[in-house]
Amino acid sequence: MKKIIVTIDGFSSCGKSTLAKALAREMNYVFIDSGAMYRAITLYFLRNHVNWNSKAEVIKALDNITLCFQYNAETDGCEIFLNDENVEWLIRDMLVAENVSEVAAVKEVREFAVAEQRKMGKLKGIVMDGRDIGTTVFPKAELKIFLTADPAVRVERRFKELYIKNPNITIDEVKSNLEMRDYIDSNREFSPLRQAEDAIVLNNSKLTHQEQLKFALRLVKEKLEAVTV
Ligand code: C5P
Repeated sequence: MKKIIVTIDGFSSCGKSTLAKALAREMNYVFIDSGAMYRAITLYFLRNHVNWNSKAEVIKALDNITLCFQYNAETDGCEIFLNDENVEWLIRDMLVAENVSEVAAVKEVREFAVAEQRKMGKLKGIVMDGRDIGTTVFPKAELKIFLTADPAVRVERRFKELYIKNPNITIDEVKSNLEMRDYIDSNREFSPLRQAEDAIVLNNSKLTHQEQLKFALRLVKEKLEAVTV
C-alpha cells in the first residue's frame, strides 16, 4: 500500500491539529503535533531554569531531553512524553504558551526537533502539523496544506480551549499571546513560518470539521493516485 507524507502548516489556532488528527485517523496514519515538541522542550527549560539565550546551556539541556508520543485509547489521541512523563496537559499551560515561540526560535532547539521529526517520517504514512513542516522538515512531502482562518475566529477558538482550564483567562490575553507568537514565528531567523510554494491553502473560518476533512481527503486521494511507488 502506497504511503505519503501530509504536512499541515499555519499560524497558531487555525485548527491544524484537529484536521491533522482526523485525517490521520481516516487514513490510518500516524499523527504528530510538532508544536507539542516545542512546548515540551519549553516546559523542561522553565522547570530547570535553562537560559535559552545561552547556547551552552541549551545544548546541555537538550542532551537530557527525550521526547516520544504514545497513543492513548481513552482520549483517542497521541500524547507527548517528556523523559517518560506524560506532559500532554501541562504543555497547554499559558506559561508555556508565553515562552514557547522564543524557545522555538533557538537554532539548536530547532535542529533537535527537526531531526526527531524526520525520524518519525522515515516510513511515511504520517500527518504532521506545525509551522515549518512543509518547508523545512519535509520539503518533498507529497501533500502540503497551509491552513488559515480569520484572526477573530482563531482568538475565539483558542479562548474556548483555554477557558476550560482557566476560567480567569481573558480574550485580550489570548489575543495578545496569538499576535506575539505569530510575530515571532514569522520573523525568526531559522525556518520561519512560511507557506510552501507548493502548499494548498485552505481558509477554514467558515468550514465545519467535517467539511475540512472531506476537502483534505479528496486531496489525499488525488495524491495517492499520482504516487507511483
Ligand atoms: O502548534 P502550537 O501552537 O502548539 O505550537 C506552539 C509553538 O511552537 C508555536 O507558537 C511555534 O512557536 C512553535 N512551533 C514551531 N514550529 C513548529 C511547530 C510549532 O516553531 N513546527
